[in-house]
Amino acid sequence: MSSPLDPELRRALAERLRYYHELGIYDFYRRKPRNFGAGASHTTLENQSGFSSRDQPELREEMPRKSAAVAVEAIAPRPEQNVGDPVAALRIIREDLGDCTRCKLHKQGRKQIVFGVGNPRAELMFVGEGPGADEDAQGEPFVGRAGQLLNNMIKAMGLRREDVYIANVVKCRPPGNRTPERDECETCSPFLMRQIATIKPKVVVALGAVAAKNLLAMNAPMSELRGRFYDFTPAGMRGTLSDAWQGAKLAVTYHPAFLLRDPRQKGEAWKDLQMVMKYLGLKPVAKSE
Ligand code: SF4
Repeated sequence: MSSPLDPELRRALAERLRYYHELGIYDFYRRKPRNFGAGASHTTLENQSGFSSRDQPELREEMPRKSAAVAVEAIAPRPEQNVGDPVAALRIIREDLGDCTRCKLHKQGRKQIVFGVGNPRAELMFVGEGPGADEDAQGEPFVGRAGQLLNNMIKAMGLRREDVYIANVVKCRPPGNRTPERDECETCSPFLMRQIATIKPKVVVALGAVAAKNLLAMNAPMSELRGRFYDFTPAGMRGTLSDAWQGAKLAVTYHPAFLLRDPRQKGEAWKDLQMVMKYLGLKPVAKSE
C-alpha cells in the first residue's frame, strides 16, 4: 500500500501536472521501480520521450532522459483520445493549441500557426523542422521551393500530396529561418505527438536532422540516422494507444531544403524513400527530381 503523500509534495505534483497539461501533455505511465534499496518505492514519469532506451540499446548513452519522480494515480485522458474520427480529433488538438503563446516563437514575428495538412488517415507522414516564410504566409507546411520538391518526392513514390500528412516539429516560423531551439521543440512537439497518435500512420519520415533528433530523442549525425527503420511510439502516448496501433516505423531522410542546396544527395534521399515504399508496398511512377 502506498503511503500518503506529503501535502507539499502533492501540491508540487499538482503544479507540475498543470504545467504538462498546459504543454499539451496528458499521458503518463507508471514505470516499474528500479532497485533503489530494500523497500524503496519509486514511480517515474517518462512522458516526455515515450521512448525506452531499453528498446534500442544503442541509444542508451545518447539520450539524456527527462523524467520527473512523481507518484500519480489518476491521469486525465487527452481530450481527443477517445474520439474515433481523426478529423474531429485533429480539430480538438488544433483547438487545444489555440492562439498558442507557449513558447517564445509566438512573439518573434510569426504570421500564423502552421498546424499540419493532409489526409487524417494517412499511412505515411512527413515531419519537417518548422515553417519557413512561405509556410508562415500561407499557413501550410512545405509550400515553397522545398515544398515543391517534397511534392515531387511524394509523386515519385506513387502518391499524391493529399494522400499523406505533413507537419513540423514546431508550428511557428523561427525568425530568419533559424533552427528551432531545444525549448521551443520540447514545448511544441507534444502537439505533433498527439497528431501522430491520432493519424496512426504506418510510416513517419523525418525530414532532416532536427526532425529526426526530436522524434527519436537521440543525437547523431544524418549519416548514422539514415538507412534504417526505427520503431517509433509518439512521446507521451505509451500505454494509451489502442491495440490496433502501437506506433509506426520511422525513417530519416534529408530535408528537401538541404537537397535544393546539395542536389547530389537526391539519390541518397531516393534510397531512403525506396525503403519506405518497399515497406508500404508502393511502386514508383517517376524518378525523383
Ligand atoms: S511554436 Fe508551437 S509552442 Fe511555440 S508558440 Fe508556436 S504553436 Fe506554440
